[in-house]
Amino acid sequence: MTKNIGLDVKAPTNECHDVHCPFHGKLAVRGKLFDGKITGDKAKQTVTLEKEAPVYFSKFKRYARSTNTIHAHVPECISVSMGDHVLTAECRPIAKSVSYVVVEVKQ
Ligand SMILES: [Zn+2]
Repeated sequence: MTKNIGLDVKAPTNECHDVHCPFHGKLAVRGKLFDGKITGDKAKQTVTLEKEAPVYFSKFKRYARSTNTIHAHVPECISVSMGDHVLTAECRPIAKSVSYVVVEVKQ
């Protein structure tokens, strides 16, 4: 049975037994949403996304380009690959640096 996670997303068609799945497990999503392109998928059930984070230099009154990396958990019922555009939702910390979970793969 698929839970309603409170977001306007398409629920995955297949079931899974992942505890950290917002649709079939016990993970609650709350807070921010972030959508981006997957830049790394080497870790097991975790992907990295790149986020723009401009740094302000007050001496020059200008911004420098900079990026941050966001780690997101991938539930068993969602399959992703490198370069996919995904929507992630904030959740409780699953690991030291993982506090987002993938909820939808965009076409
Ligand atoms: Zn699931």
